[in-house]
Amino acid sequence: SSYQKVLEENRNLYNQIQDLKGTIRVYCRVRPFLQGQSNGECTVDYIGENGDMMIVNPLKQGKDSRRVFSFNKVFGTTITQEQIYGDTQPLVRSVLDGYNVCIFAYGQTGSGKTYTMSGPDLTNEETWGVNYRALRDLFDISKERTNAIKYEVYVQMIEIYNEQVRDLFTLDIRNNSQLNGLNVPDAFIVPVTCTQDVLDLMRIGQKNRAVGATALNVRSSRSHSVLTVHVRGVEVVSNSILRGCLHLVDLAGSERVDKSEAVGERLKEAQYINRSLSALGDVISALAQKSPHIPYRNSKLTQVLQDSLGNK
Ligand code: ADP
Repeated sequence: SSYQKVLEENRNLYNQIQDLKGTIRVYCRVRPFLQGQSNGECTVDYIGENGDMMIVNPLKQGKDSRRVFSFNKVFGTTITQEQIYGDTQPLVRSVLDGYNVCIFAYGQTGSGKTYTMSGPDLTNEETWGVNYRALRDLFDISKERTNAIKYEVYVQMIEIYNEQVRDLFTLDIRNNSQLNGLNVPDAFIVPVTCTQDVLDLMRIGQKNRAVGATALNVRSSRSHSVLTVHVRGVEVVSNSILRGCLHLVDLAGSERVDKSEAVGERLKEAQYINRSLSALGDVISALAQKSPHIPYRNSKLTQVLQDSLGNK
């Protein structure tokens, strides 16, 4: 009954979030405590029977400050990588049907974004995260359809750091004026035929991403990286062409940097990250409210993802 009370108190918020559900799906994964960690700043007290809400208890602030959060689905600590991916699979199929899809993880550094999206051990397919499972399915399904549709697949990989877009395959820095009709800077584009090709390219991209990282600063958590898989299909009977794309995004950590502690480069990075993550939030809210103006142009991140966040 005490949960019922918290629920009632948060009813408005709950209803607002329900409205968001549709073309944008939001899942929450609760990370287990890490080894040697017995508690954190907050715990998840309760996950609803339908799995679409949870009650979070910010331990330091006492029980009265518990809050309800609503999602399409909440995954508890015991969920497997395979179960997490289960809800994503239809999206991959829709890329091959000619839709644009974007998958990203949002959270603080250390909250489990890489674990969920990539997985802890690339050499062990059992532990693969959403990204690799999505790619594997993309190629498997395209092969199953080969008598009806011939697919070609291409990848691009870029990084957005301090509002500057860099091609992770060529290390070229591209600026806004070069954003083309694809809404991805005209970055180097590579044809691929299997998951392994993409994995090899991602490794190159990741290696390039580290270039320029200072010793004090882990660049990968301070920049956004976007791997885009473009799919072009030719229908065998009609010869008509369909195009879809899948953006797999590794967002910068969402932690707030204390202004009094961060100076120089660190502060600049933090400001850019905060600004682009709030621009992403603004776009998602505007889409949910069916606003006539969607503010895509407020950040490079939302410009790059524009075609998969609402247009198609
Ligand atoms: P982020 O990418 O958000 O910075 P990581 O994915 O690197 O965070 O996760 C931080 C640590 O927590 C890593 O040691 C990772 O292996 C571990 N971890 C994250 N999620 C889980 C999970 N669901 N189960 C077990 N360990 C996890």
